[in-house]
Amino acid sequence: MTDKKPQNPFQFDIADGDSGGRPPQEYYEAIKARFAEERDLRLSYRPPGTDQYTALEGELAHYETDPYATDIVDRDPIDDEVEVLFIGGGFSALLTSARLREKGVESIRIVERGADVGGTWYWNRYPGVACDVVSYDYLPLLDELEYVPTKHYAEGPEIFAHCQSIARKYDLYELAVFQTTVTSTVWNEDTQRWYITTDRGDTMRAKYVICANGTLSKPKLARISGMESFEGHSFHTSRWDYDFTGAELEKLGDVRVGIIGTGASAVQIIPNLGATAKELTVFQRTPSSIDIRDDWKTDPEWAATLEPGWQSKRREKIISKQRALADRRGTLKGITREEKIRRQENANIDAMMRIHRRIDEIVADPETADSLKPWYMLMCKRPCFHNDYLPTFNRPNVTLVDTHGQGITEIGPKGPIFDGVEYEIDLLIYATGFEVQQTGIYNRIIGEGGLDLNDKYADGIRTLLGIHSHGFPNLFVMGGYQASFQFNLTDLLQVQGDHIANCIDSARRNQLDTIDVRPESEQWWVDEVITHRGKTTRNQDCTPGYYNFEGQENRRQDGNYNGGFPRYIDHIASVESAMEEHFVFTAG
Ligand code: NDP
Repeated sequence: MTDKKPQNPFQFDIADGDSGGRPPQEYYEAIKARFAEERDLRLSYRPPGTDQYTALEGELAHYETDPYATDIVDRDPIDDEVEVLFIGGGFSALLTSARLREKGVESIRIVERGADVGGTWYWNRYPGVACDVVSYDYLPLLDELEYVPTKHYAEGPEIFAHCQSIARKYDLYELAVFQTTVTSTVWNEDTQRWYITTDRGDTMRAKYVICANGTLSKPKLARISGMESFEGHSFHTSRWDYDFTGAELEKLGDVRVGIIGTGASAVQIIPNLGATAKELTVFQRTPSSIDIRDDWKTDPEWAATLEPGWQSKRREKIISKQRALADRRGTLKGITREEKIRRQENANIDAMMRIHRRIDEIVADPETADSLKPWYMLMCKRPCFHNDYLPTFNRPNVTLVDTHGQGITEIGPKGPIFDGVEYEIDLLIYATGFEVQQTGIYNRIIGEGGLDLNDKYADGIRTLLGIHSHGFPNLFVMGGYQASFQFNLTDLLQVQGDHIANCIDSARRNQLDTIDVRPESEQWWVDEVITHRGKTTRNQDCTPGYYNFEGQENRRQDGNYNGGFPRYIDHIASVESAMEEHFVFTAG
């Protein structure tokens, strides 16, 4: 089979209007009313925002321990200086390092909590872990590494191995420091260097620091009363305990397993547990949307036809298609904003109802089928793609406990409790997700004048492009808020990495010591973010989840830039064409 059109569930072509024999508008309004009801039900149960989740501290700290590298490698504290230091060793750091190497930067250090590079793909090793974005687009630097992924949707181990290949190709292991958490990053105005301390007693200095700590890296648990009293074994999906389950889950034959959460991680895990565990109980608060996963092995004949530079050409093509779609929307003549929203919503509802029909076709028990139906706009949560998830609920050993939006609020010594029933299990898996897009997640960042980045952000995040923040010279942030939203995250990281490498290159070529964004440029971007966020009602209308701050309203500029990825790219280009206008450079 050859490659097919890349999937992008976030884009509907609304130019078609009501063509194609759509039902009357009342049909859509009735569905929207049900969406609102389901959302309100969920909000009525939850403490506001992220208060329902708990930090992994004290008795819960072990949930964050690395199960993949249990020995902490002994080493002396480091006291030295590098030119560029990355906090985090995932795709952000790898991509940007590649670009920096191309520009001749030699002194690059990655500081990483895990025992290797990889980030997301280091930590998430649960059974079934795979990419949901077409791997020919998701895996970066395929041209540079002359590599073609083995499947349309690559599996986790292949992506992790690709991360390691990038690190080897660009000599990033040499200075890298693993099993190390950066605890503070402080700007020294006299030496014009960042001073970085870690939990291993290091004091490193760096000219440039890049916060590359990922968008979803710190695991979180639901704050469930009695969770410490559970007598069985338990872990979070991103810290899979293969000692307990066996490498192929072969040790689960006699084990009763429970899993809390039905997000994208759980959707990939549940079919594997259903096939191996003695019993599996799935505790669901909100179902995910499950679409067909159109996967195949890469055809070697197709791979042989790929010419050097094929991935960047493919990427350009995708972005120009996104641009064409945005232009088409922008030029819809004589159509009000309300009409555009109506068309978008109707198309979105059509897609969701198709997903409902598929559930009825696959899931035998009508009550279970009903419970698995998501009642929200498709884009309110990360859409999932799996061919074995829904059939898993037809297995005799699998039970769905639908908590009807309430969630599990109590755990007893034997297992989760819902509606007065204590579900007896031996293993409890928390598929409860991650903290979202925080800059300096384990780390205090102190800029000019002793200003803490968190204090600066207390009244709202302030950046240019989500990358630069005034008063924090030579510091760059990747994958954080105020950057564009892009379903294929590595596209965004690539664009940001190119830009950061260009900034550093520009400073180096001109023998300048610092680069800091001008306050006016930062204000321009904050306004731009607010303007575009004002154009969407997603926060107000969506079912709660990490996409919309758990349904909390009025987060001002604290979100992604919603002006579209092509426009974000254009903004970066315009900033780069007028560097002096946007940045203050100093020479020591
Ligand atoms: P999510 O935050 O998406 O899911 C957490 C789940 O836990 C939700 O279903 C949530 O319900 C549920 N939950 C929380 N508290 C309770 C409770 N007390 N009782 C019952 N359920 C509860 O985390 P994931 O790890 O699944 O996914 C995070 C993200 O990682 C994805 O959205 C995606 O971006 C990425 N990812 C990508 C993959 C890929 O590309 N292949 C695979 C896996 C993850 P509710 O919805 O009601 O809040």
